[in-house]
Amino acid sequence: MTTWVTGAEGSGYGLAHLPYGVISHAGGHRELAVRIGDQALSLARLHDLGLLDGVLLHATPVFDTGSLDGLLARGPQAWSALRQRLQAILVDRDVADMAGEALLPLAEVATHLAWTVADYVDFYSSENHATNVGHIFRPDGEALPPNWKHLPIGYHGRAGTVVVSGTDVVRPNGQRKPGPEAPVFGPSRRLDVEVEVGFVVGMPSVQGSAVPTSAFREHVFGVVLLNDWSARDIQAWEYVPLGPFLAKSFATSVSAWVTPLEALTAARIAPPAQDPAPLPYLIDADPWALDLSLSLELSRGDASAVISRPPFAQMYWTPGQQLAHLTVNGASLRTGDLFASGTVSGPGIDQRGSLLELSWGGREPLTVEGLGEVNFLEDGDTVTIRGEALATDGSRLSLGHVVGTIRPAP
Ligand code: MN
Repeated sequence: MTTWVTGAEGSGYGLAHLPYGVISHAGGHRELAVRIGDQALSLARLHDLGLLDGVLLHATPVFDTGSLDGLLARGPQAWSALRQRLQAILVDRDVADMAGEALLPLAEVATHLAWTVADYVDFYSSENHATNVGHIFRPDGEALPPNWKHLPIGYHGRAGTVVVSGTDVVRPNGQRKPGPEAPVFGPSRRLDVEVEVGFVVGMPSVQGSAVPTSAFREHVFGVVLLNDWSARDIQAWEYVPLGPFLAKSFATSVSAWVTPLEALTAARIAPPAQDPAPLPYLIDADPWALDLSLSLELSRGDASAVISRPPFAQMYWTPGQQLAHLTVNGASLRTGDLFASGTVSGPGIDQRGSLLELSWGGREPLTVEGLGEVNFLEDGDTVTIRGEALATDGSRLSLGHVVGTIRPAP
């Protein structure tokens, strides 16, 4: 089965991918769309053309509100039905002329945050990342805290400052304490990135009940790439005893395109073994992880370089365990919740997902051809996170990238 959309196959955005996003054309209103090749297929326009008739009941709030929110709330049967209809349209040459009216070149559209972020949680699930951070911050202590292999550590982030890829990030001001003297106030001098994968919740759960690992696909719609911008100097001074606060709440960037879980079934692999065995509520009868190949690119001046390739396959805690843990106390899920994996780092020096690790706390700056010496982010730096995975048709799909440029502190 091949699509009639020219150039789609082999682009990373073929028929087997179809990520969702929200676009606007020529300053017009927002439209829900899927990406196919280098074009956006507007679901609002397909709906107007009658090509989505019968696929969902009461479909106007799904297709005509300029947001993914309506679809998220419909649940997995609706997600599958719509995906099948879109794939059928995209292979049917008899409707190509009509459906072609709903295709818009990406070069002519703006992309917007695809959904309303409800609650945002960030985990800390890479053993390599947690071990590196432990060595950097607590060189004389145990690298991993005693709870780390018993539960997926996380914290609540700030949903209202999640921004779409392409949004500039203003360097935060705050308190830092560079030495034994009193703390000082000013722009962060240790602004960092965290390469992460985010999961977007569709179906809510009931407060007072827990969501088991086996129910992941009933609740979670899809995947984004995520950059958890972090001010390490503000973080180091504020985080004891309640964890990250202003060091991370100023901005979190997510990709414009949300890849449905259904597009990632071929990327599912067995997760790493866990020792000690976790408590029963964290055991998954059919455990799975995702084999996503990530990359971190830094652009400074006229030069750009990929400085790291973190492997998502090796994350210690799985997405299913994260979801089970965050609801085990009865905390409910809301449509639009976002939970992120935590910084993805592999065992290799060139697999670390933050500048904190890549420069070993700023003590061992990277020397990158064209960029010179790299410690933390400078004003004007642009950071791009990309990701790839095996698609169900054997091709490689490209997760929507997430990019941001640092602007000076006010
Ligand atoms: Mn993080």
